[in-house]
Amino acid sequence: MSDEINLGPDCQSALENLYLFLDHEMAEGDWDAVHAHIADCAPCLTQFDVERIVKELVARSCREKAPDVLRAKVLTSIRSVTYTRTTVVSSDSRGETDA
Ligand SMILES: [Zn+2]
Repeated sequence: MSDEINLGPDCQSALENLYLFLDHEMAEGDWDAVHAHIADCAPCLTQFDVERIVKELVARSCREKAPDVLRAKVLTSIRSVTYTRTTVVSSDSRGETDA
């Protein structure tokens, strides 16, 4: 039932190299061959698109996470700013002048 799409040997080798292809971690000639195959093969194109989108989402969420050292520094400076602000006493002493 799930065997409606017949993947040829080219598909198999393309899908095996999926991550290498996405990371450009294969020889230029091999990369071109996989690229040419995907351009012509709808099932492979779909598969590669899904993987690429997942990879991009993962990469983006990793990039947005600050390193622990930076986090600690930011938290420390936020605390020190809060502390400084709360210890500043505003003296509002003005005398009444009668003109
Ligand atoms: Zn294919």
